[in-house]
Amino acid sequence: MPEPREYPGIGVGSTAAVGPCARFAAPPAAPADEPVPSGAEAIAAAGAALAEALEQVSAELRAAAAEHPGETLGDVLSATAEMADDPALADRAARIIAEGNGPANAMTKAVAEFAATLTGIGGYLAERVTDLNSVRDRTVARLLGPATPGLRTIDEPAVVIAHELTPADTSSLDMTKVIALVTEVGGPTSHTAIIARQLGLPCVVRAAGATQIPEGALVAVDGARGSVVVAPDEATREAIVRRMERHRALATDTAPGATSDGHPIQLLANIGGVADARSAAGKAVEGVGLFRTEFVFLDAAAEPGVAEQAGIYREVLKAFTGRKVVVRTLDAGADKPLAYANPAHESNPALGQRAYRLVRSVPHLMEHQLRALAAAIDDCPDTEAWVMAPMISTAGEAADFRRRADEAGLGARARIGVMVEVPAVALCADQVLQHVDFVSIGTNDLAQYTMAADRELGALSDLIDRWQPAVLRLVEATARAGAASGTPVGVCGESASDPLMALVLCGLGITSLSMSTPAVPAVRFALRHTSLATCRAMARAAIDAPDAAAAVSAVQELLDPRVREAMSLD
Ligand code: PEP
Ligand code: MG
Repeated sequence: MPEPREYPGIGVGSTAAVGPCARFAAPPAAPADEPVPSGAEAIAAAGAALAEALEQVSAELRAAAAEHPGETLGDVLSATAEMADDPALADRAARIIAEGNGPANAMTKAVAEFAATLTGIGGYLAERVTDLNSVRDRTVARLLGPATPGLRTIDEPAVVIAHELTPADTSSLDMTKVIALVTEVGGPTSHTAIIARQLGLPCVVRAAGATQIPEGALVAVDGARGSVVVAPDEATREAIVRRMERHRALATDTAPGATSDGHPIQLLANIGGVADARSAAGKAVEGVGLFRTEFVFLDAAAEPGVAEQAGIYREVLKAFTGRKVVVRTLDAGADKPLAYANPAHESNPALGQRAYRLVRSVPHLMEHQLRALAAAIDDCPDTEAWVMAPMISTAGEAADFRRRADEAGLGARARIGVMVEVPAVALCADQVLQHVDFVSIGTNDLAQYTMAADRELGALSDLIDRWQPAVLRLVEATARAGAASGTPVGVCGESASDPLMALVLCGLGITSLSMSTPAVPAVRFALRHTSLATCRAMARAAIDAPDAAAAVSAVQELLDPRVREAMSLD
């Protein structure tokens, strides 16, 4: 029996599970003594062997993708297959062979170079390095012998622990037997995290040393706390069982969002594509509050045509027939650069030509996207379509977006809005609201720009805290302008998924909350057990608090004990 020990990491989601550990085997590395081909013929043969291995890996990944149609996993596997198909990767590896390396070592070196480039760009692209490494491991394994790395069968329900778990690895697992996922690397937006969220599995990433946990050892994985505990004591195990029972009970309530005295507040889903839309449509949400369209095109080298885009938007709208869908135009840039949209280099991309601002350099992208949306909306008359632009900074920009939307024929088909992510827009909300039908507050970026703290930088997480009174005051200013003009004001940043904060937002006058679907039941429960008057008192207490920690304490003081118990991790 191993000693109790905790491996802290970054938690994903709010669930937890206890079970035996199943370790995912490490992939084979390129051998140091791999024979080096000499002479033109041998070099050409090694290059051909590598090309053939890449082709086989691509075919294997595409076959795995075909088994998950319409799912995030299928999309990710197809994107990984595209990496194996990339002629630039094969060319670079062939040149490294010619410089005096065996094919497995050449592949490893070529991938290291490509990975360094992606890491340098950062954000989403940095997290694609996992997929690139998966292509490397599979190609090296093919060059060395018939084995495919990492594959294993799980017979009993188990916690899968891996150094790194690629989507290709995930596709090889029987997910019905996986009760939690733990990796030593990765981030909160890595694929392991995305897949865990989609499946509602507890997950901890960046749990250093976790692969040292012995095979079969009992482990408790807590996504809310971000912890992996080996040999958990009885109290820990029982607390997790209690919490999961509460979690399941909350999910049985499917009523529309409202306070205990019936003040409505729409509960909506954040989605990133067709697979997400289909999955969210089966949940008790009143629609989509944020469709991040840039997520669909992150791997595209060139702008997808209007017809292709319309096809994707149509599928999303169709999934929500009878409900509302808020589509956001491309939020390309900063941590989500699109190859065909963003300038190659900006010294400060978060403050650069991103999102709506791309109309300055590549206006045709907005025009094409709005036309594609108009076509898709025409085909889905029973879905209530709303369209908004991200990163608007002035009332003039809001007016310009409205004009572009009208020119594309969207004015008659959808409600037109903008996001409030730049403090300038919150401060001038009354002027901005004159041009739009609704606004949605992106609290992630609003906090980043209000506090002048990079949202990706863990070291500044206290500054970027959603409870910072300055951020709440900007939310209040926006909500007040919305109430004065009768304009809906939603929140679609991460703040909306925190049940305690949801009460404050409701008290500030926010009319809808959009979040990842697993967060909805707890937010619904908190609202259902709190009156509008209490939400307003909480909002006042948070706004008047001197700092973020004091704001949380002040609101907790006013919390109904039933909500406190439901939110407890014990
Ligand atoms: C936000 O900034 O809060 C938001 C919802 O947009 P994103 O997280 O996609 O930047
Ligand atoms: Mg944003």
